[in-house]
Amino acid sequence: MTDNRIPADLPDHIQHYIDGEFVDSIDGDTFDVLDPVTNENYTTAAAGKKADIDRAVAAAKRAFDEGPWPKMLPRERSRVLHRIADLVESRDKRLAELESYDSGLPITQALGQARRAAENFRFFADLIVAQADDTFKVPGRQINYVNRKPIGVAGLITPWNTPFMLESWKLGPALATGNTVVLKPAEFTPLSASLWAGIFEEAGLPKGVFNLVNGLGEDAGDALVKHPDVPLISFTGESRTGQIIFANAAPYLKGLSMELGGKSPAVVFADADLDAAINATIFGVFSLNGERCTAGSRILVERSIYDEFVEKYAAQAKRVKVGFPHDPSTEVGALVHPEHYDKVMSYVEIGKTEARLVAGGGRPDGFETGNYVAPTVFADVSPDARIFQEEIFGPVVAITPFDTDEDALELANNTRYGLAAYIWTNDLKRAHNFAGNVEAGMVWLNSNNVRDLRTPFGGVKASGLGHEGGYRSIDFYTDQQAVHINLGEVHNPVFGKQ
Ligand code: NAD
Repeated sequence: MTDNRIPADLPDHIQHYIDGEFVDSIDGDTFDVLDPVTNENYTTAAAGKKADIDRAVAAAKRAFDEGPWPKMLPRERSRVLHRIADLVESRDKRLAELESYDSGLPITQALGQARRAAENFRFFADLIVAQADDTFKVPGRQINYVNRKPIGVAGLITPWNTPFMLESWKLGPALATGNTVVLKPAEFTPLSASLWAGIFEEAGLPKGVFNLVNGLGEDAGDALVKHPDVPLISFTGESRTGQIIFANAAPYLKGLSMELGGKSPAVVFADADLDAAINATIFGVFSLNGERCTAGSRILVERSIYDEFVEKYAAQAKRVKVGFPHDPSTEVGALVHPEHYDKVMSYVEIGKTEARLVAGGGRPDGFETGNYVAPTVFADVSPDARIFQEEIFGPVVAITPFDTDEDALELANNTRYGLAAYIWTNDLKRAHNFAGNVEAGMVWLNSNNVRDLRTPFGGVKASGLGHEGGYRSIDFYTDQQAVHINLGEVHNPVFGKQ
């Protein structure tokens, strides 16, 4: 193993960032951060608890109540956001190498995610100056208009898959709309998040607007969810964690945005362009190491092309290049953490008892240590199999045949999740009817997951609650106060008239 895979100048300790300062936890506690290729600790991070969250929320609240940020003109905030985007872009290689090292993501894919993070800031910087709100007139009687206001301290809780990009997805709109924030990044991958503070300082974000507390979900995350001065929680993570957060936030009646798990179907009809469908469904489940919420992890294939599809798909999956995350030719890297590796491997073993293994099924040759899983393909997977129903979140795919459009729809909808669906057919009517009937928050027709930032993002069923994306994110992070102005006679009966 060569050492050029280890980025230069790795921090030997990662701190919180509260009120413009890097600080340790009040109780001095830390947790270990592992390199997914060796599973050795390469640094420690401050382990935040309730006291640290209290401190961060107090700083964010002060910045909201007394600082300039919420009152600044949208154009002024937009300039800061554009500077943030410029800085992220100019540091994309450093960001990508840190992200790839910390998370095990292939470097080329981490670079794409760094650029997407910059784009998220640029997008909301533009949107906030273009924002128009409703005005309604009742001629001669009334004018009604909307005052849009930032809400306060937003609590942002993020997962470890593409961590920096997913943080930008929340930070962009939360800051663009004038809120202040406390970010609690995932404990498996705190490295790239530690770069935000420098970027924000350089871009001119006022002190206290952005605060970051590292730590475990059940400590720091839980304290953020239960803090009475945090009216909004935007959460991305597992459906089970979403349920816990939902319950914990209920007594405070907080605004919640929940982006949760998935088990998305890719449905391939016999009339589809087979090569395009295979290339896209290979990428759809093996990119980002399969640690992707919108992964097409169940492939449903029309029976007349099923055998040909499975044969070609398995052959191609075997050619997917597993390698060191820093190597630009790597297509699948190392899974994020040994706990996650054990979970994915346990599903591989379960799959062997439930279905026909046609590719992978264990460690790839030549990778005796680290969190490596060979791209794994199971065929003839029955809909009641656990590998058909449960989110694995790794490079493992289930393929199932179908006979009719009705069968395909029933299979597609036969899980608790409803995040994405991918449909491959050249029949226009079938494509649109299927899209309309499939239980998924997002549908792609003859396409992989390529998303226009203006479109709604979110899942149905156990995959989420609420939508972000475009102006829907602006809606989540703002209050819309209706102001009604009377222009005519005062419009009410007079009670107690003399
Ligand atoms: P996770 O639910 O384990 O953790 C997510 C975050 O929540 C982490 O920061 C964690 O520390 C925190 N957390 C855990 N318990 C908490 C608690 N009790 N209170 C408050 N915070 C708590 O998820 P993960 O394993 O980090 O991420 C993978 C999951 O995220 C997958 O299910 C994936 O599908 C989902 N995901 C969804 C989307 C989407 O947009 N729908 C995007 C990416 C990932």
